[in-house]
Amino acid sequence: MNEEIKQLTGLQIIDLEIAKFDDEINAAKSALTMREKVFNENQAAIEELQEKIETAEAQRRELEAQLSDELSRIKERQSKMMQVQTNREYQSLLKEIEDGKKSIKEKEEEIVRIMETSEANAKIMAEQESLTKEEKKALAEEGSQVEKHAGKIEGKKAKIVTKRNSMAKKVKASVLKKYDMLRIRRNGKAVVGVRKGVCQGCFMSIPPQHFNDILKGDRMLNCPTCQRILFHEPESDEE
Ligand SMILES: [Zn+2]
Repeated sequence: MNEEIKQLTGLQIIDLEIAKFDDEINAAKSALTMREKVFNENQAAIEELQEKIETAEAQRRELEAQLSDELSRIKERQSKMMQVQTNREYQSLLKEIEDGKKSIKEKEEEIVRIMETSEANAKIMAEQESLTKEEKKALAEEGSQVEKHAGKIEGKKAKIVTKRNSMAKKVKASVLKKYDMLRIRRNGKAVVGVRKGVCQGCFMSIPPQHFNDILKGDRMLNCPTCQRILFHEPESDEE
C-alpha cells in the first residue's frame, strides 16, 4: 500500500474514534436539553394558568361591582314605589326591579362559574408546581452528572487528539488538507477500499483502467464518483 494512504488509514481510525467520543458527548447533552425543554414548557403552562386565574379574578371583581350597583338601583326603585301616583308608574318600577333581580341572578351564576373554573385551575397549577419543583432538583442533578460524564469523555478524547495531531504532522500538508476536506464532506470516511472493482464508500464500479492504476498502488487515487481516496482491498479478505 502507498505510504501516504497507510498514514491516512491510520489517521482515519483515530478520527472515527474521536467522532465517536463527540457523538457520546452530544447524546448525553441532547437528552438533558430535551428534558430542559419539557421543563420550560411546563413552566410556561404554569404561568399561563396563573394569568388565567388573574384574569378571572379581575372579571369576578368587575361583576361584583356591577352586582352592587344593580342592588342599589333596586333599592332606589323600591323606595320610589312608596311615592308612585299611577298604576302605570308602579308597573314600570316593578318591571325594572324584576329585571334588576334577574340580572343579579345571572351575574351571581357567572361569578360561581368563574370561581369554580379558577379553583380547578389553581388545583392543576399546584400539582404542576410541585412536579416542576421536583423536576428542577432532578434536572440540576442530571446537569452536573452530564457535565461530569462529558468531562470524562473529553479527557479520553484529549489523549487521542494529541496522538492524532502528532500523526497528522507526519502527513504531507497537501495530502492532509485533501483528507480533512473529504472527511468532513463524507461523514468521516475519506479513505475506503475497493473490493472487486467497487468503491466501498459509494458502491459504484471503478472503471477498469482506473482500477488497474489503483492495483499498482504507487500513487493516491480517488473514486470518480464520491472522490474518496481509494486503496485496493484483496478479494481473499472477504471470502
Ligand atoms: Zn466512491
